[in-house]
Amino acid sequence: MTKEEVSQNLCYYDKRNPYSAYSDLLSDEDIETYKLASQKSCSCDNCFYGRTKLAEHILELSNLSSTFVQNYKTDI
Ligand SMILES: [Zn+2]
Repeated sequence: MTKEEVSQNLCYYDKRNPYSAYSDLLSDEDIETYKLASQKSCSCDNCFYGRTKLAEHILELSNLSSTFVQNYKTDI
């Protein structure tokens, strides 16, 4: 699964989601306000079915892995 495919499972209000329906309509501040207000109760499909949490975790692991590889190459 590619990073873009994983990003499609992020919250609809997250601009990292390439299919976010709202990213062009709302400002960054509006999105942050909404995310903070709805962290526990966002009802978009991805949040409702738990896809957002899993996608966030996969992206975090992917970033950690990339950092580890870069540090490893630097140390050699
Ligand atoms: Zn959501």
